[in-house]
Amino acid sequence: MTAPANLKGSLLNQLKRWMILLLVVLQALTVISILFFSSLANESALLSQAQKILNGATKESIRTTEAFLDHAYHEVSLTSQLFASDVLDTTDIDRIESYFLNQLDQNEAFAGIYLGTTTGDFLYVSRDATGERGAFRVKHVMVLDEIARTTLWWRDDSSDRLAMTPDPADRFDPRIRPWFQDALAADDFIWTDPYIFFTAQSLGITAAHPVRDAAGNRIGVIGVDLDLQALAGFLAELDISESGSAFITNNEGLLLATPTMLGRPTHDLALLSIDAMADPISRKVLETIRTASRSTDKRNAAGFTVGKTRYISDSMPLQLADGEQWLIGTYAPRSDFLSDIREGDQRNIFLAVGILLIALLIGVLLATTAWTPLELLHFQANRDQLTRIFNRHYLMKFGKRLFNDAIAQDETLSAAIVDLDHFKQINDTFGHAAGDAVIKEMAQRLQNASRAHDLVARYGGEEFVMLLPTADSATAQTVLERARDDLKENPIEFHNRQIPVTFSAGICEMSDALNSMEPVLNTADRALYRAKSEGRDRIVVATLPRREVTPEETEAAPVPHDVPLPNTFA
Ligand code: GH3
Ligand code: MG
Ligand code: MG
Repeated sequence: MTAPANLKGSLLNQLKRWMILLLVVLQALTVISILFFSSLANESALLSQAQKILNGATKESIRTTEAFLDHAYHEVSLTSQLFASDVLDTTDIDRIESYFLNQLDQNEAFAGIYLGTTTGDFLYVSRDATGERGAFRVKHVMVLDEIARTTLWWRDDSSDRLAMTPDPADRFDPRIRPWFQDALAADDFIWTDPYIFFTAQSLGITAAHPVRDAAGNRIGVIGVDLDLQALAGFLAELDISESGSAFITNNEGLLLATPTMLGRPTHDLALLSIDAMADPISRKVLETIRTASRSTDKRNAAGFTVGKTRYISDSMPLQLADGEQWLIGTYAPRSDFLSDIREGDQRNIFLAVGILLIALLIGVLLATTAWTPLELLHFQANRDQLTRIFNRHYLMKFGKRLFNDAIAQDETLSAAIVDLDHFKQINDTFGHAAGDAVIKEMAQRLQNASRAHDLVARYGGEEFVMLLPTADSATAQTVLERARDDLKENPIEFHNRQIPVTFSAGICEMSDALNSMEPVLNTADRALYRAKSEGRDRIVVATLPRREVTPEETEAAPVPHDVPLPNTFA
């Protein structure tokens, strides 16, 4: 019964498998898409939040830097006005010094404030980075008879003068300094290029403004030094993200301030250019942001990848009072902001897999329970109710396939029609129930006599059809003789009464002329008719001529073979 079982398996079980698979795939798709889109929504929400954080930090940096620079700008502008309005006078060194000390005291960002005159005099009050001798250091250069005399002294927090010492070796001449020359040349406020402060060994810039006396004569230049370490300190304080950072560069790509510069003395200006940054990742990040912002003079938010890390950045140009432009930027790896949802995603995936497994289990259970009645229905549709062997409907459906297979594989196939002899008499003699039992038992015996891949079906009342793939007519005859002998050796009993049952059978083997089920069965039926007419209890193999038997010829046969009965599916 392999072949019919296979058919059932190949249809029903395949359908079942596909249904379960479909169920799983649908569920997986649902869960995956929900996970994916929720993660995507979370991600874009977090990233836009991150972009806002960066933008906030950039704006704050801009504001702080502007204020930092503005103080120096206003300081030199105001001081030059004090000279122009005679409030300050180049001859009153004490007054200027105390004014300068006062300004330093009030502006923490100022590293030093000084006045250089066109005659070569110089008064410079600065914070003493070492703080060894006092909080402030004062250098005074006075030119007398074309000889410059330099004196140094220190003052403490309360402006008391501490140590005082001449410094004959110092031949400082303000008139040859760039801040002095540039301010006079511009005849206006200027920022110097960034340079390294000699004493503090840190990067700074100077705000310089030409000074005129009350009569309008140019008498010198006032300068305020700004130590850019102050900006580095501010950037270090910014709360961006775990590995986010900020920076300020000028138009030439010189790194003016970044948190890593804090507390690090610099000796070589060239080492402060972005190109010379020791960390290649930071260098690449800064270069990328600079390139991206070069095309705009507005705020620029960018996303980019350096190495394997994806970054977001925010940058803004800052216009200086003398027309120069700086760039202030913040950046951070996306992972700083996304690591939380990545963890959440992982949790969700575990959860989803769990739910999926439970749903799968339920699905399989449902499919299996829903399947049982379906399988039963399918079974019933193909089976004869009395004998449980295949019915005529199934024979017609599956028999064609056996014939096609035989043709395709160039093999033969034999069909046999079996009809019980004088069955009416059996019914009459032993009762209808006994007749039923005989039909049932005969079905079983024919089944037992057949091979696994043969098909045995109840064809009508007490008629059976056997399809025997690969069997020639002689083999089919052997099979049926075996059944006949068995019936003789082991007679059928019903309620302890032996029932004398014999059968007649007609056999037909397929051939080139008879190569489909209908004519083969018709021919077998004719052979059966011969068996009946030759005295019953025998098996007749159809012989030549092997031409198709017409339905008329079959109908002429007095042996009914397809009488539909109430208890069959035929
Ligand atoms: P023959 O040798 O010519 O075949 O004689 P027969 O009496 O068997 O004749 P026929 O095949 O024409 O009659 C078959 C009878 O089988 C008719 C019907 O009463 C009986 N029969 C058909 N189906 C069933 C069934 O399911 N149960 C029982 N008990 N009898 C059935
Ligand atoms: Mg009969
Ligand atoms: Mg009959």
